[in-house]
Amino acid sequence: MEATWIPILNLKVEIEELWDEIAAAIHHVLRSGTFIMGQQVHAFEREAAEYLGVKHAVSVNSGTDALVIGLKAAGVGPGDEVITTAFTFFATAEAISQVNARPVFVDIDPVTLNLDPALIEQAITPRTKAILPVHVFGLAAEMKSIMEISEKYGLKVIEDTAQAFGGGYRGAKLGTLGDIGCYSFFPSKNLGAYGDGGLIATNNDGIAEVAQMLRVHGSRQKYYNELIGYNSRLDELQAAILRVKLPHLDHWNELRRQVAAKYDELLKELEDVTIPAKAPYSEHVYHQYTIRIGSNKRNDVHTKLKELGIGTMIYYPTPVHRLPVYAHLGFQLPYTEQAAREVLSIPIWPKLEHHTQKIIAESLQKAILS
Ligand SMILES: *Cc1c(COP(=O)(O)O)cnc(C)c1O
Repeated sequence: MEATWIPILNLKVEIEELWDEIAAAIHHVLRSGTFIMGQQVHAFEREAAEYLGVKHAVSVNSGTDALVIGLKAAGVGPGDEVITTAFTFFATAEAISQVNARPVFVDIDPVTLNLDPALIEQAITPRTKAILPVHVFGLAAEMKSIMEISEKYGLKVIEDTAQAFGGGYRGAKLGTLGDIGCYSFFPSKNLGAYGDGGLIATNNDGIAEVAQMLRVHGSRQKYYNELIGYNSRLDELQAAILRVKLPHLDHWNELRRQVAAKYDELLKELEDVTIPAKAPYSEHVYHQYTIRIGSNKRNDVHTKLKELGIGTMIYYPTPVHRLPVYAHLGFQLPYTEQAAREVLSIPIWPKLEHHTQKIIAESLQKAILS
């Protein structure tokens, strides 16, 4: 008998569940003959702003563009420094470099894997313009301290919320505590489109206005360009699909928490395994369920799980400050580097079944003991 492969993420369950509604939404857009900046985009922006509890939601072409345009709209530019984490996807730092500012990496809290607020102040210089925390894997960064530091030094705060749409910090939605929240609708994210997409959330009228201009070639009015901008728009099809999905998001995130709680129970006694941290201030949305494997066993476990038919991923094998484009900056971040050696993300999606989780847990035990 051939063993069945358990992928790290299964999007087919959700597509099947929503098939009729999604198909109707797609038909509606095709029939409308409007594909860019139409009714669907405007409606989605209104609905997303209402869901998040912010004044403005500005849709763009990707999470990366949300960061680039968000940084620019916040006034970050050449010569500025932005304090951020290196335990993230490359795009976080890439966006800072794209606006000709410099990423200043500080180490993570070894438990939460998020930017350690206790290390921020010593990294501040006269050039520091902003702090860019990432709510990594869906767990909130410690926003209270970050906001206090930003107020003390007059810095902007841009939240990379690509992995945490719907997540919370003490009752407020992530991405709405700082000046700007940046979201990604990459298909694998908690609120995923069926293609690329992104969003900027802000309560600041001025930032929203500039972001709205930057996404359409720096113009308020067609063919009257006031800024050097981008072509970065969410299209009508993706907006229509996201409108179908948004009302389900809270339920799906709750199901992710239930899957995570089951894993916690199955894995907490396992030798050499540390289950993901929780934080009292965070409403976790488990974009990933990421365990840590000690005793230098992570790479072997990763390989063995693959042989056993379980898809797992290492997010991220090389921390951003060690990647070829940033290695010359010479940052040394011991906790970030240790995390990169130990982390392993195992399968999670809202409707992952208990019996499949048991198979995964048993395979993990086998892989660790062999
Ligand atoms: C996915 C992701 C991005 C980039 O989003 P895209 O939509 O793929 O451009 C940025 N930051 C983090 C932390 C991400 O996980």
